Parts: sequence; structure tokens; C-alpha cells
Amino acid sequence: MRLGATTVLVGERGGKYPQGNSLLIEGAEETAIVDPSVAVAEGRFDLARVDRVLNSHCHEDHVAGNGRFPDVPWHFHEADAPGIRSLDGLMAIYGFDGPVDVAWRRIVVDQFHFTSRPDPTTFRDGDVFDLGGGIRVRVVHAPGHTRGHSFFHVEPDDVLYLGDVDLSSFGPYYGDAWSSLDDFERTLALARRLDARWYATFHHVGVVEGRAAFLERLDRFTAVISDRERRLLEFLREPHTLDDVVAHRFVYRPQDVVGFADPVERRSMSQHVERLAASGRLRQVERGRWLAA
Ligand SMILES: [Zn+2]
Repeated sequence: MRLGATTVLVGERGGKYPQGNSLLIEGAEETAIVDPSVAVAEGRFDLARVDRVLNSHCHEDHVAGNGRFPDVPWHFHEADAPGIRSLDGLMAIYGFDGPVDVAWRRIVVDQFHFTSRPDPTTFRDGDVFDLGGGIRVRVVHAPGHTRGHSFFHVEPDDVLYLGDVDLSSFGPYYGDAWSSLDDFERTLALARRLDARWYATFHHVGVVEGRAAFLERLDRFTAVISDRERRLLEFLREPHTLDDVVAHRFVYRPQDVVGFADPVERRSMSQHVERLAASGRLRQVERGRWLAA
């Protein structure tokens, strides 16, 4: 799919995880690839020329194909750069322990082709990549999913690449050690104010045209957060521990087979518990047992 200078390299199954939709942005002087996917790693696209790799954030599926481009700069937001410098750096972003960490390391390397690099180039909010011929890519820092997660706005085609603000029915993912629910909510509010002609996501929603269609999807995506919170408050009409919350599942469905579901449920829902307790909507009936007020 082509949007001016930007081509969407649609992954298998429309880019549904673990696949994704990378962008190729061709200026008069340089070509950049955004978030090289597993399909890029496996050579499914004929890419004649790539001068830079731009990564929206450091997660396994977004950096899978970086290793195909060992001789060009890899650009990350400065907050996520430690994740590409080493496998340990990447694992710190997730924050898993014990057997989940061990199993996930293997998957990241074997299935996602993770390639570390000691010298990524870092960017900050507002930085611009000038690819020549009027084609420019502007960074919009949009943290929450990870600390450094960023959007890219491609001018003048007016394509806003949203990375993992992916507008999916799964909803916002803030289940890593380096995720933040509060930051994610600020990012969603920011996204609501950003105007573009095309909105592109890494996963299967792909490209949305026009602000009205984008806002409709963004609102549905955002509503998943309040829905998780509402279900949590309902569950805590009876006193429960965080372990009970994890076992009940609010992020994944009980039937979903996901190796890291427990730590993700714990990290995600503990952020809800903390803020509900801070605002007086939950209280501890005894140490570690929570009840809706
Ligand atoms: Zn991600």
C-alpha cells in the first residue's frame, strides 16, 4: 500500500502480532525503514536501498528486521536505546523473572531474530529526519507502552505512524516493567489532538484514513482502559489479593495461552490498584487484600 512517499510493507495476516506492518519512506536522497518486522527479517520484501532504520520503540516485533541493515544507523528514542544495546537491556524493558525470562529470551532470539547493537543513534521529541525532496519525518514522543515509544509524522504526505498505539480491540498494552498506564493515558490524549490524513499502526488495523475514522477507533481503544478498571472494581466487591486479580485475568482472556500472561496481568493491574487506592476507591481490608470502597 502506497501513501505518497510512504509504502506500507504489510505483514502476514495483515500484520497481526507477531507480524507487523513496517513503513518504507523514500525521499529524494535517503530511504528510511520504520520498525522492520519479522517478514522484513525473513527477506519477504525486495528492499533495494535503506539508509536508516527508525524504531518507534524497542520491542521484539518492531526490531526483528534491524539485523538486515547492519551498516546503516539505527535510530531509537534515547529512553529506549538501552533495549537494543544488549539482550539484557531488552529483557529489562519487559522485567520478567525466572522461567518466564528464560523462555522469553529464547523466543526473542530464535523467533524474532533479535540482534543487539552497541551504538544506536538516539532521537528526542521534535527531531526531524530530512530524507530529501521535501520528505521529512518528525518524531513525537508518545510514552506509556515503553518509556521511549514515539510516533513518526511523515511530511508532506501527512501520514502519522502510531506504532503500538495500535487501535486494536485488545486495547492499550502497559504490562512491561517499562510501561506506564499514566503516561499511556497522556499519550492517548495527545494522539486525540494530532491531525493527519492517514494514521498507520504496526499491527493489523493497518492504515486508517481521516480524522473522524481515527477518533472513532481511538476512543474504542482508549475505552478498554476504563473497562478493565470497571471489571476490577466489580471483582473487588469481595476482598481479593493481587494474586487473585492476576489469576482472574483482566488483560488477557482466561483461554489465551500466553507464556508471560501472569507478569503482564500483575504489572498492568497493579497500576490500576495503586491509583484506585490513592483516590480512595479501593481500601485494604487486611494487608494485601483489596476491597472496593
Ligand atoms: Zn510494543
